[in-house]
Amino acid sequence: MRRKMAAGNWKMNGSRAALSELEAIAALSADFDVDTLICPPALYVSEALGQASGTSLHIGAQDCHFETSGAHTGDISAAMIVDLGATHVILGHSERRADHGEDSEHVREKARAALGAGLTAIICVGESEDQRLAKNTLDIIGGQLATSVPDVSTAANTIIAYEPVWAIGTGRTATTIEIDEVHDFIRGRLIHRFGDDGQGMRLLYGGSVKPTNAAEIFATDNVDGALVGGASLKAEDFVPIIRALAAS
Ligand code: PEP
Repeated sequence: MRRKMAAGNWKMNGSRAALSELEAIAALSADFDVDTLICPPALYVSEALGQASGTSLHIGAQDCHFETSGAHTGDISAAMIVDLGATHVILGHSERRADHGEDSEHVREKARAALGAGLTAIICVGESEDQRLAKNTLDIIGGQLATSVPDVSTAANTIIAYEPVWAIGTGRTATTIEIDEVHDFIRGRLIHRFGDDGQGMRLLYGGSVKPTNAAEIFATDNVDGALVGGASLKAEDFVPIIRALAAS
C-alpha cells in the first residue's frame, strides 16, 4: 500500500511573513492520513522547519547540486539540506530543466547525491506541448525516467512526479485519461526496472492541481498524490487538496 502525499512547490514565491501559512497548513491538515510536504525557497528552509516543528508537515528543498561541496557559487548541497533537518528535495523540475539547462544526466547525478545524503528525491518528468502533439509523450517520459532515476532508487527514497510542462502554472490540467495513460506507463516501467520497489514508488501528478479538480485527479489509478505549485502557497487552497487526497 503506497502512502499518499501532497507536496507543495513554492518555487521563487513567498517571504518570511508568508511562512505563517505553514502553521495553518500543518494545523488544518493534522487529522488527514497523508504525507504533507512544502518546499519553500532554499533561503527559507531553515525558518520553515521552525514553523513546522512538532507537526507532521515535512519541509524540503527545490534543488541541490550533485557535488557534496566546492566551488559552485549560489548552489546548495544535499548534505546542507540534511544538515538543516529537511527531508525531501525536488529534482528535474521542468523549470530547472528549461532555465538552467539541466538534462536527465544532471538530474540522475543530483538524485544520487540526494539519496546518498539521506534525502527523499522527488524526480520530475514531463513532456512539452509540442512533444504531446507529435504523439511522443510516452517516448519522452520513458527516456526521462530511464536516465533521471538512478539505480539506487527504492520505494522508500524516491518519488516520481509526472508534470506535463504545458499544464504547469497554465491553468490547463491534463485529462484523467491522459494522466491515467502516463501513470500506468510509468508504473510499468518502474516495475520492470525495480520490481517490488517499482510497485511501491509513489507517483504524483503535477500541473495546475486545484481544490476544484483534485478529487477527480486523485480518483485516477496510480495517482498517489500531487505536486502542487500555485495552489500550495495558501492554506485555504492547499488544505482542500490535502482533504481531497485523504478522501480518495
Ligand atoms: C509545479 O510547480 O510543479 C506545478 C505543478 O505548478 P502549478 O501547480 O502551479 O501548475
